Parts: sequence; structure tokens; C-alpha cells
Amino acid sequence: MSFLKISNLSKKYANQPESAVTNVSFECNEGEFIAIVGENGSGKSTLLKLINGLIEPDQGSVFLENKKVKGPSENLVPGHPDINLLFQEFNLFPKHTVKENITYQLRYFSKDAQDERLNELIKVCKLEGLENKLPSELSGGQHQRVALARAMSDRPKLLLMDEPFSNLDVMLKDQIKIQVLDHLRKEGQTLIFITHDLGDALSLADRIMIMRAGQIVQLDVPEKIYEKPVDEYSAYLFGKVNIFDAENFFQSTGITGCKPTKSKISIRPEHFSITKDDKGDFKATVERIYYRGDSYEVVATVKNEITIRINTRKKNIFPGNEIMVKLIKSKIHFVD
Ligand code: ADP
Ligand code: MG
Repeated sequence: MSFLKISNLSKKYANQPESAVTNVSFECNEGEFIAIVGENGSGKSTLLKLINGLIEPDQGSVFLENKKVKGPSENLVPGHPDINLLFQEFNLFPKHTVKENITYQLRYFSKDAQDERLNELIKVCKLEGLENKLPSELSGGQHQRVALARAMSDRPKLLLMDEPFSNLDVMLKDQIKIQVLDHLRKEGQTLIFITHDLGDALSLADRIMIMRAGQIVQLDVPEKIYEKPVDEYSAYLFGKVNIFDAENFFQSTGITGCKPTKSKISIRPEHFSITKDDKGDFKATVERIYYRGDSYEVVATVKNEITIRINTRKKNIFPGNEIMVKLIKSKIHFVD
């Protein structure tokens, strides 16, 4: 039995030419963190609303612990009682204080239980001193932290968060992010969150879902997403990458023994290294060097035929230098 099972979900808004979500299927395990990434308009927010039963799918179904999540047509109260969604636009109750917003979902719990959870979340979301303020008195970052605390408050079976850290002040962002996600991990929370921060997706999620034009492009563990992207788009999404025409690459470098399965290959700059001696795989000529703080990015050409980007910590490399380049062969990855 899968904890959350999404099958063939599709949704087209009445006034739109294209569907927002097209034939999306995936499963999520209990306690798993899935990060959703993708360009604006790729259907991320719509997918979360469909999972929560807030909007009616044209097709497909959502099952949580083998029970169907009903859409608005079958459900008087919109949304599923065991699923919380933290909206991109927060939606706090404007006439209620921070404390009331956070404890709203706990209103049927005992006073002690409410206070205990409130105090815990005030700490985790760094809201000390704001308990009695109204949303209108809060900054954007504070707003978002209250919305986070409210979404977490009653420990839903499934927590959905739409860009939950996007409005946080830079100074607090890293701390709150880690604090909140560590806390959710400890509680065994199942979490699907949308993020624009690809570093967060790589470091904080168990699996990453890449969406484009309403569809899942790739859903896999971070290492696979980074090292084995399904296509050029996914490769570029997660940082610097070399994309070569496979035939050109093998011809110029003289590297053999790889059977091309697709026409292009992607190689991350850190999978090339510069060696002094003849232990390298091929020669290259340095064109430019960019200092990146913790490393250098070296742009070099091979026989004036291809240009490669290498990430290195080696100092004293200058334009015009001839270098030997070594490549970890297992990192050669074929893409469409
Ligand atoms: P994302 O969250 O990835 O930016 P959305 O799910 O918000 O994407 O939007 C997907 C597509 O659906 C976009 O083309 C958007 O304009 C459209 N859309 C989103 N919400 C509505 C709505 N309430 N009514 C009509 N079109 C919408
Ligand atoms: Mg969105």
C-alpha cells in the first residue's frame, strides 16, 4: 500500500488554452520529503491544490492511505482534513492574532495541548514576541513564518507547502529552513514542498520532482537528478553543466570505450580535473579563468574544436596554458 498515490491527474482551467496539469502520476511514501521545482506556470501550485482536493481534477485521482481525496464536487468543506496546504499567498486570518492563527486548527484540543504546541512552533519558526500581533502588523517574512507554524500546527498526515521560505529575510532564511525541516523530520512528517531554491531541493529533499508545462519531467533522488538529468533542460536547471555533441566530444578528446545511447552528453564541471603529468585523458588550452571563491572555473578548448568548463581548486593556471584533463568516465551521461 502506498501512503499517497496520485494517478493520471489532469486539470485545465476553463479560461486557459493549455492544461495546467497533464497526466501526473506518482507515489509518495510516509515520512518522505519531495521537493517540486520548475519554471513559473509549470503547474506546481495547481498540483498541490489538486492533491489537497481544493480544485476538481478533469481526470485522475488522489488516494491518501487508500482513501480517495474528494474534490469540491463531492465535498462540502473544501480541502482534506488530514492534509494542510501552506499557500504561496499565505492566507492568514486577517482579524486574528498570530497566536489565534497558529492555534486555529487546534481549537478542539485542550488548552494545555494548544499552549504546548504553540510554544514549540513559536521557537521553531522564530516568532517570539509576535504572539499578539495582527497579520497587518507583520513583515512579509513574519507573515510567512506564521503561515508555516499554522500549517504545521496539527501535524497533518500530509503537509503541502508552496514556496514556504521564499519571503524570509536573507539573514534568517537558512536558520529557519533548517530548523523547520529538521523539526518536521523528527515528527515523521510527510512533506511535499515547492521551491525555487535548487540548492534546497538538492540538500533537503529525499526526492526531487521537475515539472514543465504541467508534466513531470523527472522524479528521482537528488544525486540522480544532478548527475543523470533526463534532458538538457533538467541538466541546466541544477547548475553549471557541459553539454556536448557526443560524436564531437569523443572525436576531439580521443576518449573511447563509451557506447553513445543518445546524441548529446552532459558532464558537470567538477567531474573534469586538471592533472600535471601524463595521467590525463586529453590535452586542452586554457582560455579563461573565473574565480568562484571556493574554486576556479577554467574554460579550455580541446584542439580548437570543443570548449569545456572545469571546476578546480588548482591555483596558478593562466590563459594560454596547456593542461592535461582527466575525466571520471562513469560521469559521462547521455541526454536528449
Ligand atoms: P506554478 O505554480 O508552477 O507557477 P500554476 O499552477 O500556478 O503554476 O499555474 C499553471 C497554469 O495555470 C498557468 O498557466 C496559470 O496561468 C494557470 N492558472 C493557475 N491558476 C489559475 C486559475 N485560478 N484560473 C485560471 N488559470 C490559472
Ligand atoms: Mg505557484
